[in-house]
Amino acid sequence: MFLVLEDRLDEKASADILDALVQLGMQAELVRSSKQVLIFVHSDVRAVPTHKFTRIPGVARVMRTAPTSPLALSDELRTVDLTSNQNSLTIGGGAAPVIMAGPCSVEGREQLLELAHKVKSAGATMLRGGAFKPRTSPYEFPGLGQDALSYLREASIATGLPVVSEVMSAEQIEIALDYVDMLQIGARNMYNYELLKEVGKAGKPVFLKRGLSATIDEFVHAVEYIMLAGNNQVVLCERGIRTFETRTRNTLDLSAVPLLKSMTGLPVIVDPSHATGKRSLIRSMSRAAIACGADGLMIETHCQPNQSISDAEQAITPDDLALISADSLALFESLKGLDETPAAAAGPQGEPRPRLVVACATPGSN
Ligand code: PEP
Ligand code: MN
Repeated sequence: MFLVLEDRLDEKASADILDALVQLGMQAELVRSSKQVLIFVHSDVRAVPTHKFTRIPGVARVMRTAPTSPLALSDELRTVDLTSNQNSLTIGGGAAPVIMAGPCSVEGREQLLELAHKVKSAGATMLRGGAFKPRTSPYEFPGLGQDALSYLREASIATGLPVVSEVMSAEQIEIALDYVDMLQIGARNMYNYELLKEVGKAGKPVFLKRGLSATIDEFVHAVEYIMLAGNNQVVLCERGIRTFETRTRNTLDLSAVPLLKSMTGLPVIVDPSHATGKRSLIRSMSRAAIACGADGLMIETHCQPNQSISDAEQAITPDDLALISADSLALFESLKGLDETPAAAAGPQGEPRPRLVVACATPGSN
């Protein structure tokens, strides 16, 4: 159950209400959504009449059937801001598309440094690279671990590109904090609620990938876990979902992009590499992603794609990345000039009106 507090309350008054409930033996916590301050009562209070709560000064309303994701849902656009090597990078909110590029797995220091310079020249604005690799088979390359993280940091300092890399456990979060600018939670761990809570406490922006078979609502609930642990800096990533189709590695669900943006206001990135598993499809799907409002792309890139230790079939060259970066900027600029009228009214499930791509770009914000 949630108690909605009156708008006028300051922090002290809200904390006093929480204390009063705890004194009554209830388990409760304060939750700050984008619009309201709420108290989430964990205890079973079904037998407690509603007026006992509404009588508490400062409580505006009681919600017995509460929204499941009050923090993740928002109709305002939200940005995620990174500061790395004294540079800042804004993701979402109408900013120019972010291009995250780098190898599936970091394979060595020289490999990474060479690639980092090349992707930067090709228009990348962030460096990605797997250090701790979630491998479907335990006999496959598991990544270089902390060594890979130190190469990523070195490459970041050399190029100025902020770094994102995946973590799969609380211990790995601790290690990665000194090296990365954004912590990635991969598709296989989107349902790992303990990990989501840990990453929510880590104090770094989080790059959350959609689970292999996650519904939009499950994805949004995963965001809620991170935000409830105290972290609002979340970037979402659509990386394809499992369907009956076998010609592509996954099926890229582009409808998730405008839907997630209208539900959460958070930046949404598309990963056409894992979505298709085929380098020949990456440029087209990147164009489609930017056209439907993605705030950026994550693309696996390698100087010798066929020699990649992992995911070779989907890796592209820095030269191909340069074409995609140019496409993305051109599309982003041309979409800004289009009509901003939303195409449809609120849907039957009550989801907010989908924003058109261009509605995300406020004049002068880029
Ligand atoms: C990755 O981006 O390195 C990765 C493993 O992707 P996903 O979690 O989407 O499979
Ligand atoms: Mn990969």
